[in-house]
Amino acid sequence: MKACIDIGGTKVAVSLNTGAGLELLGKRSEPTIKTGSNDAVARQVIRMVDEACAEAGIPADKVQRAGVSSAGPFVLRAGMVELSTPNICGGMAGPARGLPNDWLTAPIEAPLRRRFAEVRVENDAVAALEAERRWGALQGYEHCAYVTWSTGVGMGLCVAGRVLRGKNGNAGHGGHMFVSDNDEALCGCGNIGDLEALVAGNAVARRFGSDAAALLQHAKAGDAAAAQTVDELCRVMGRALYNITALLDLQRISLGGSVFLHNAGYLLPRLDAEVKAHLPALTEGCELVPAGLGDKVGDYAALALLV
Ligand SMILES: [Zn+2]
Repeated sequence: MKACIDIGGTKVAVSLNTGAGLELLGKRSEPTIKTGSNDAVARQVIRMVDEACAEAGIPADKVQRAGVSSAGPFVLRAGMVELSTPNICGGMAGPARGLPNDWLTAPIEAPLRRRFAEVRVENDAVAALEAERRWGALQGYEHCAYVTWSTGVGMGLCVAGRVLRGKNGNAGHGGHMFVSDNDEALCGCGNIGDLEALVAGNAVARRFGSDAAALLQHAKAGDAAAAQTVDELCRVMGRALYNITALLDLQRISLGGSVFLHNAGYLLPRLDAEVKAHLPALTEGCELVPAGLGDKVGDYAALALLV
């Protein structure tokens, strides 16, 4: 039996898998706990796994493998992953950030290893990439990426069949790449001009006073000003996709995340045109496609870590 765990800045989701097929049992989600001691999220996860076991009628000690797909960044302490996620740990930005804790990190791997025999923690975009490579739109592709365009922007990268992890498991934090010195684009990480600070769902709301869903709806309905704003978002996001194509010589990029998936038909040709407008020697033969697992990518990301 496997525990599939998804940790985000807003919610924690847990489900179980018997090891046969893709069925997820006892699925549940809760707001991420951000009060108490800094192992509160790990204790929440373990309690939720036990509750899922009780609901599914499975003895809790039968669940000994845990896959964790989590928002990053990570830091390692004694080789174990701890979260250093700005939306969870309030101790980095200080009280002005408004989180109800002073955690510098939230230990995840060490407490879970006291409960489970096997634990694998990966960045959520890396885990989603693995799910897309196994069951989705990236099956059979050796040079590929998964890019999520959602509240934030994240990337999982794969070259020559090897998923890139990096020294602390933080490879693919492409949302924090510099794309513009536009100084209205203050990123949650403190940088100015990061990709995420310009195009992510939370940036759209902050920059244009309208959430991304409403903006896209107006653009699709023919509102010229909204369409122009979306074109500019696609120019920046498309240029970021070009950047990773130029760096990694990719064959295929799978796109997910709520901003993209709810508007794939409108956004995909615009992103594709931007990528293809640059240096054909690098961009020809690189396809952009919607995530094959659609909005289920997140559900299967943690499971993909245990296959
Ligand atoms: Zn940033």
